[in-house]
Amino acid sequence: MKRHLFLFSIQVIGQHNSTYENPLDIPLALSGTFAEIRSSHFHAGIDIKTKGKQGLPVKAVSNGRVSRIRIATSGYGKAIYIDHPDFKTSVYAHLKKFSPKIEKYIKAAQYEKESYTVQKFPRKDALLVEAGEVIGYSGNTGGSFGPHLHFEIRDSKNQHPLNPLLFDFKVEDNLRPQLQRLFLYEEGSNDVVIKTKNASLERVNDSLYKTPLLFASGRIGVGIQMFDRQDLSYNKNGIYSMVVNVNGKPTFKYKFDKIDFNDSKYINLIIDYKNFKENRYRIQKLFRPKTAKFSFMDNALEPGFFNLEEGKSYQVLIEVSDFSGNTSYVETYVVGQKQKTKIEGLEKQINPELDYLFEFHPNEIYIPKNTFFNPIQLEIQTHSDGIKIGPDIHPFKGAFELSFKTELKDSLKMKKSFIALKEKDNLTYLPTENKNGKLTVKSKKFGDFVIASDLTPPSIKSVNFRNDQWLSGFKFLRGKN
Ligand SMILES: [Zn+2]
Repeated sequence: MKRHLFLFSIQVIGQHNSTYENPLDIPLALSGTFAEIRSSHFHAGIDIKTKGKQGLPVKAVSNGRVSRIRIATSGYGKAIYIDHPDFKTSVYAHLKKFSPKIEKYIKAAQYEKESYTVQKFPRKDALLVEAGEVIGYSGNTGGSFGPHLHFEIRDSKNQHPLNPLLFDFKVEDNLRPQLQRLFLYEEGSNDVVIKTKNASLERVNDSLYKTPLLFASGRIGVGIQMFDRQDLSYNKNGIYSMVVNVNGKPTFKYKFDKIDFNDSKYINLIIDYKNFKENRYRIQKLFRPKTAKFSFMDNALEPGFFNLEEGKSYQVLIEVSDFSGNTSYVETYVVGQKQKTKIEGLEKQINPELDYLFEFHPNEIYIPKNTFFNPIQLEIQTHSDGIKIGPDIHPFKGAFELSFKTELKDSLKMKKSFIALKEKDNLTYLPTENKNGKLTVKSKKFGDFVIASDLTPPSIKSVNFRNDQWLSGFKFLRGKN
């Protein structure tokens, strides 16, 4: 960066991008990019490869003071947070160990607390560091799968993660994002989208992909399966920005300069979750779900759906870029078709704004409002050992409750009973509340729920279920409360 140009504004405002030093002694190769979609969150930083080993010196990227040190067995493992004078906080996670000066400080805290896991917020001048000073050594602690350095830059005042690449860290990247599949979605009521087409992408040249002519109807949005690579790493990383243009006009865009930890609450709404559950790959939606509030999207903009008139043709051009500005394009033509009306059975539709209690004596399923983001279709099936509820393809916002009443005469056995989730022949025990033979669990997952016991044989046949009965006439109360 041409620092001399910005020197004045750095001193006055202290907000402009400073020149930070590389936290490692090796060129930066990434195994994870900022805001890429993980199973439960948007990635808050970048994952820097450490040549497959631990123990590389990790250095402070700029002058500052250590504001937080944390040792945990999960998550960030051993982590250091440094506050810098430009009101940014840098974060270094999964470390193997700290520098002697930080190690000494945190050892004292561990002895005092008599615990390995500890978190300290050092006093203002207790641990000052200089740019380039070794603060620790890279490792694989906490929730890390293989040695790497997880590195973040945050806005110190609200802890919002910023894209570290905005701070001039050099990552060699001359490769364009790779696009794999394109999907069209028809907009339904509420947030319901119906996948209409899975179009194969044909690579025309280095940067352009095309599809066969597509037909759809109503208001549609697009989704795309894609990844990005950098020169020095073979990992499939997330992309930086995208724009959808319809007939030459942008209808939707976002880019990952900054996220909010709150965004992760809606992570399953930015992908085609049903497809992910069924096929294990992520299609990123290029339209805004109504029930999600993403800080990186301009919520004032159109949600990204566009209207197809019968018989007209629409040019859709999608631009997908990485941080270095390498861009890939999809150009496709969609022809509007006559709209088909399709009405689905509504009797087991769950509206997320209402509470539902399904009673089939003596057992109950309680689905409070806000269990789901969107209306869903529910299927319930009873069998000799329990209840099957599904399909498990909808993102949960909250938990639902399931109660079984056991009629075990043997009180010891009753005490040792649990509700478990059965997958193939495996039982996963769920934390079960056991009150007078009424077993209750809260779950954010659908599946096959059965009663199991710590004491194995004989098999428990004491639940009031009939075999393979579809519950069509079950009783439910709508709008309880
Ligand atoms: Zn990471």
